[in-house]
Amino acid sequence: MSFESLGLAPALLRALSEQGYTEPTPIQAAAIPLVLKGADLMAAAQTGTGKTAAFALPLLQRLNEKALGDGRRPVRALVLTPTRELAAQVHDNLREYGRHLRLSSTVIFGGVGMGNQLTALRRGVDIIVATPGRLIDHMQQRSVDLSKIDVLVLDEADRMLDMGFLPALKRILNALPKQNRQTLLFSATFAPEIKALAREFMRDPREVSVSPANSVAALVTHHVHPVDAERKRDLLLHILSIDSRRQTLVFSRTKHGADKLVRHLEVSGIRAAAIHGNKSQNARTKALSDFKANKITVLVATDIAARGIDIDQLPVVINYDLPMVAEDYVHRIGRTGRAGSDGQAISLVSHDEAGLLRDIRRLLKDELNVSDMAGYEPSTPLRTDAAAPRPKQAQRQPQGQRPQRSGSRDGKPGQRPPATHRPHGHVNNGGSEHAAGNKRRRQRRGGAASNKA
Ligand code: AMP
Repeated sequence: MSFESLGLAPALLRALSEQGYTEPTPIQAAAIPLVLKGADLMAAAQTGTGKTAAFALPLLQRLNEKALGDGRRPVRALVLTPTRELAAQVHDNLREYGRHLRLSSTVIFGGVGMGNQLTALRRGVDIIVATPGRLIDHMQQRSVDLSKIDVLVLDEADRMLDMGFLPALKRILNALPKQNRQTLLFSATFAPEIKALAREFMRDPREVSVSPANSVAALVTHHVHPVDAERKRDLLLHILSIDSRRQTLVFSRTKHGADKLVRHLEVSGIRAAAIHGNKSQNARTKALSDFKANKITVLVATDIAARGIDIDQLPVVINYDLPMVAEDYVHRIGRTGRAGSDGQAISLVSHDEAGLLRDIRRLLKDELNVSDMAGYEPSTPLRTDAAAPRPKQAQRQPQGQRPQRSGSRDGKPGQRPPATHRPHGHVNNGGSEHAAGNKRRRQRRGGAASNKA
């Protein structure tokens, strides 16, 4: 199959060949013709399989077919992402694919000044890539008009539709045209209730799925090492020392834990940085770009970096802590084994996480390779029975029910309700905190524990 046969325009084909892409990935082959036809779409594809181009290429083509003159143009396409880093990445991709077209775009997210965003919006752009919080700030200031949007894309759609982002998303949906709008949802995972919710604002959506739901890339090998909690740090150092130049992304459950781990790694002579929601946007951007440029070897992240972020040839992801929600394992691990290369997923699992490991194994319907690391064997074997423990904050989810995150009106992830509380950080997508949002959040959380991530 070729990109030509999908009906893409010569200017896009040229950009693709300059990128070195020779043929479409399965999700691109399935989605591009449908999007070009104008259909609404829910597309499930495992992460790292070329999802961005699957919506970006036909989106650019459709806008280009209806190209407007040189004057100030209305915003005609909106791409929403849950994290600032993902917004920046999707925007970069759109610019690369659209380099031979006369379409303009800008990216809008919080944590940075408004000035450049206002200038771009005043000049007029065809496409906005945004996180919800800052976009709402612009809506409130009337610096953006979304009433002419033809195409809406929700990237990481399941996250955009969960409780943390839903209030913000509803406000944005209210500002968009209801008629004749094309809506595209892309995600690695789609829970049934998320699909049902999405149908409320989609027109007869087509569904494509190119891999079993909730699967991880086949080229990723999974290793689970049981270890006593107090020996995790030593085991991590041991694994890192096996190949000290190997770029490694380490996931920590909490922001505080991530900072502590970085200090420990640095004392041990390893160049490392942390990325999480308490860091300034500058620090987040620098950590990610230093990691991509090989200036640091280890990036320690909360789940802020679990979604969508594309790090070329990342060979290893280590779960220093297991995620509280099994689906997040899929997102984390998706940072490696991308675009056909192989990768390793290593999880260090202490006794208190045995229940979380059980959840992940169930979700993946697969036995992960569990083996002791010589010299770091746990004092007692990990439990595998139904009553296997979880960290205190993690309560068991009712069967089939996706955990919900509560959050503020600006899409800043807040707390989940106590029963589903998950203490790791999600993205702060910017935007100012407002008293009303805080109050709503407090009410929702019912005074539950603070966000530790
Ligand atoms: P994504 O799932 O959109 O984050 O893409 C994962 C990686 O695959 C990115 O590095 C893309 O640049 C790359 N990619 C996307 N489409 C193709 C293609 N058709 N051929 C080769 N690489 C691709």
